[in-house]
Amino acid sequence: MRKGVLKIVVPCYNEEEVLKETNKRLLEVITAMEQSGAIVSGGVVYVDDGSRDATWTIIDELSKADSHVAGIKLAHNAGHQNALFAGLTLASECCDMAVSIDADLQDDTNAIFEMVDKYNEGVEVVYGVRRERTTDTWFKRNTALGFYKMMSVMGTDVKFNHADFRLMGSAALKALIAMPERNLFLRGMVRTLGFKEADVYYDRSERFAGESKYPLTKMLNFAVDGITSFSVKPLRLIFSFGIFFIFMAVLAIGYALYSHFVGQTIPGWTSLLVSLWLIGGSILLALGVVGEYVGKIYKEVKRRPLYVIEKTENLI
Ligand code: UDP
Ligand code: MG
Repeated sequence: MRKGVLKIVVPCYNEEEVLKETNKRLLEVITAMEQSGAIVSGGVVYVDDGSRDATWTIIDELSKADSHVAGIKLAHNAGHQNALFAGLTLASECCDMAVSIDADLQDDTNAIFEMVDKYNEGVEVVYGVRRERTTDTWFKRNTALGFYKMMSVMGTDVKFNHADFRLMGSAALKALIAMPERNLFLRGMVRTLGFKEADVYYDRSERFAGESKYPLTKMLNFAVDGITSFSVKPLRLIFSFGIFFIFMAVLAIGYALYSHFVGQTIPGWTSLLVSLWLIGGSILLALGVVGEYVGKIYKEVKRRPLYVIEKTENLI
């Protein structure tokens, strides 16, 4: 049985309303595990993702009040995935396992006990998987379902109903951090690592306070990112479309020749117009998808830093 130092990494964007409660609950979990001997020691690392409210002030206070609490302040809003990556990178220097969890307490903090048990049994990556989504709105539930369906159809391997609530051992962490890509889709990247995995099921509750920082537009962007950073299936789809249109064109030529010899040679502008639209549309569609990949290459080639750290607190 192995045992180690645990860090819980929490990305926070304008989370002043929930932070104190989140901190209380996470510290309860850590204290309980320190006492039971499940971990050697534990700590929480908050990553302030360029919040415009009092988030950093609160993190600062919490870290001064308790040495279990550390903070990282990013200079600007780098986005959830990048903020989490920042936290995991810095935490990996001083822990044997790291749990990533959202600040809003939607994920059950008690699931961390089970995650750590699995780690102690030798599992390297433990996924927190939601049992059901009864507390989400109908809209959120169904858009999320559509998200997973679309991802798997498009060839990206994602775990159903798992977001970014998971435990990673230091080996998995190191491998993840070593990945050089810029367009992060962490839940997909972790799955490609190939370490020993396990699931822990939990019920997802409502946001403790504040509102979602993932409106529909951000979620759609995230889905598009997930697909285009991971799979070339859309490109293959264009290829299939191409084959289909060529097949249709052969049929159309056959029909035109037949009409010609039978004598119905009145130039039909309807079919012309229809094919014009059809071809124009498909070319645009194809260009759009190719453009998406070109955009990705552009971003990768620039190799800008994923985040800029302004300062850290209590981070050993
Ligand atoms: N978050 C972040 N940067 C952002 C947006 C969100 O660090 O630009 C954090 C946010 O504070 C929360 C987590 O990412 O801890 C998930 O966001 P949220 O709960 O709003 O998303 P939802 O659960 O609604 O999908
Ligand atoms: Mg949330």
